[in-house]
Amino acid sequence: MLAKRDIILKGVAASSGIAIGKVFFLEEDDFCVIRKDLPTRDAREIEKKRLNSAIEKTRAELRVVYTKIDEVLGKNYARIADVHLLILDDPTMKKDVYELIDSGVNAEYAVFKVIDKIVCSFEFIEDDYFRERKIDIQDIGKKIIGNLFDKQRKTLASLEENSIVVSHNLTPADTMTIREKLVKGFATDIGGKTSHTIIVAQGLSIPAVVGLKAISSQAKTGDVIIVDGNRCEVILSPTPETIAKYRKEYTLQFAKRKELEKLKNLSAETTDSHKVLIFANIDNPDEIQSVLSNGAMGVGLYRTEFIYFNRDSMPTEKDHFENYSKVAKIMSPYPTVIRTFDLGGDKLTKLGLLNVEHEKNPFLGLRAIRLSLKYPEIFIDQLRGVLRASAYGKIRLMYPMISEIEELYEANKVLNKVKQDLRRENIEFDEQMEVGVMIEVPSAAMIIDIISKEVDFVSIGTNDLIQYTLAVDRVNENVAGLYDPLHPAILRFIKRIIDESHRTGISVSICGEMAGDPHYVPVLLGFGLDQFSVSSAQIPEIKRIIRSISFEDAKKISEEVLRCGSKDAILKIMNTIYTQ
Ligand code: PEP
Ligand code: MG
Repeated sequence: MLAKRDIILKGVAASSGIAIGKVFFLEEDDFCVIRKDLPTRDAREIEKKRLNSAIEKTRAELRVVYTKIDEVLGKNYARIADVHLLILDDPTMKKDVYELIDSGVNAEYAVFKVIDKIVCSFEFIEDDYFRERKIDIQDIGKKIIGNLFDKQRKTLASLEENSIVVSHNLTPADTMTIREKLVKGFATDIGGKTSHTIIVAQGLSIPAVVGLKAISSQAKTGDVIIVDGNRCEVILSPTPETIAKYRKEYTLQFAKRKELEKLKNLSAETTDSHKVLIFANIDNPDEIQSVLSNGAMGVGLYRTEFIYFNRDSMPTEKDHFENYSKVAKIMSPYPTVIRTFDLGGDKLTKLGLLNVEHEKNPFLGLRAIRLSLKYPEIFIDQLRGVLRASAYGKIRLMYPMISEIEELYEANKVLNKVKQDLRRENIEFDEQMEVGVMIEVPSAAMIIDIISKEVDFVSIGTNDLIQYTLAVDRVNENVAGLYDPLHPAILRFIKRIIDESHRTGISVSICGEMAGDPHYVPVLLGFGLDQFSVSSAQIPEIKRIIRSISFEDAKKISEEVLRCGSKDAILKIMNTIYTQ
């Protein structure tokens, strides 16, 4: 047996904390199609039978999807599955696959080759819409091949408690399941600094490291590993000494957290009495206890995407109402800012929203408010749920990813129509409910003087503002080094948003990850930020820092930082002021 030795892998982003435990390896969905030669006629006939039953299985699965979409969204949407059924029944495709099998190859390979040929021929179609239908064909191919393999993915459902999940990739929806399974932590090959997977992990206080590049090929089920979310590292084959060292650190951290708990009921106030508010970000109503126990003065960002994850049909108005009213009631009299769904990008559902699942540039595509305006039926259900819940607590509504003023007008038009309907139906809601937007696209930051006159508040989504301003994919570990909140362009944008919003008399929050990083607190404070909205677990440390400096000093620091032209110069200043 090989002697234990620490193998340290560095990731690009982490959810803080330490987890020590055994690996549960989660396999990828993808499969590799290999050509096998079938020399005998009998073997080929068996292969055709296998193909037929895989097609039948695929057909049955598609019918289920069709019925579900039809029930929830109506016939128009059900056509997505309908198109797939038509492709599946295409006689030419089946004939071509049969012919290939007859030439002596296995069914998986034959399907793969025929689909590939059809997809290539689509490249020459000029019409964008029809050219993109190749995706439907690829989908069908994958489904048939999957059923030919008849290989069940070792799913998250089989997860064992107290394990550490290692996978090539996890989606935010997977992360939700991880929470239910009480796993200790996770580590993945891919993922960037503010991928939603890591944000959800932070909200759930699960130690995690993403962007490790090759952990999925180095760790296997049963191995003992350490996830060090504080240093963004994973340690494979840890020696007994390393395990002991980490156990000690874990205990120290626990003690520090206990110490910080004493700040819970104190205000977030500088030494010269400048007060700000610290709110919490949540991804799920279950986090609310932790919001309260960490002393948040409200929920500054309620990400509602979770309602759409891990289910087979669209959430109903009742689902929305129940989730939001539960949080609003518990948080009352503090406010709860509910963000309308921000699906798309790295947050996909299995609900078959037309066109979204296969976009080439999903972060620049049909995401967030764009999706809401494209699918008003889904948006309306959510708005009705939010408005009805507003009768039970102090709810504020926030639209994500606004990039032009017209989108805000459009969204408000839908909102006003929903309000009219509710009035007609005699359903109670808060007529004064405030409406705000996230500023997370550079175009919105540039027209903040215009936007701020049309809303009650704004919240800066630095996760996206950084991605879109610096042209750096937030989930791509290859460019993670370029993803930097200290880029002078970002700091200037933030300052501009705060100044212009204050000029119109509205408050500004930051709900991106930047607000939860202790290093940035003095500068953001000095810029005049009104609210920090962060993961519950980060609240005590952010409060400690705010209480340890004066507003006057923070302003001087932020002025100095704004004069710097390079990230390095800014970093130097930051490092001198952060107090551990
Ligand atoms: C952001 O972009 O900063 C933000 C808070 O929204 P999300 O991370 O959900 O995109
Ligand atoms: Mg965002």
